[in-house]
Amino acid sequence: MSSLGLGIWDQCIDLALEAYNAGSMGIAAVIVDAKGDVVAVGRNQLRDGLVSCNSIKMTSIAHAEINAINNIPWEKQKDWELMLYTTVEPCPMCMGAIAMSRIRRVVVGSADPYAGSVRLLEKDDYLKQKGISVEFAQGKVEEICFVLHYLSLRRRLKPEHPIFRSLQERYPAYVKKMDDLLSSSFLSGREIGRAQLMEVAG
Ligand SMILES: [Zn+2]
Repeated sequence: MSSLGLGIWDQCIDLALEAYNAGSMGIAAVIVDAKGDVVAVGRNQLRDGLVSCNSIKMTSIAHAEINAINNIPWEKQKDWELMLYTTVEPCPMCMGAIAMSRIRRVVVGSADPYAGSVRLLEKDDYLKQKGISVEFAQGKVEEICFVLHYLSLRRRLKPEHPIFRSLQERYPAYVKKMDDLLSSSFLSGREIGRAQLMEVAG
């Protein structure tokens, strides 16, 4: 598969695409060490039983970050310099798992203003003293991650679900673009190809 030239994000996006095309949420996470070497990967596997990188699948906790943390090899479990890349802002469960691991740096592809829990890092005293820093990606990475998240949600939820209002407020231009595409036949297929994803988020 060709590289997008987006570094670690390339691997995240490939895995998120695999998740989406398998019928799960198009979300993935990659954990690297201080040298930038990949230590563990994981993807959302809520709704597919495929053999992938995950041991947790088809349960309500089969989220990308949980699977990635679960895949950290024993010899790396005590490394304080691990950094987690995730295509979508972690939910409260995943942020809890990050806090209980030794990961203290998180890089987020696109925000989840509905279920995302970065705000808890400031609001909750226990989480606050963990000293977890979070950065949000921008530009092409943000849009690609948003597209996979949005398409996953549109596939599963009714349009009146409150998450769509939150996303509309946070990402009005991206939402308009996707809604226009969804009303055309451009994304009518069940699966989305990498080239098609690049075109959508171009
Ligand atoms: Zn989660």
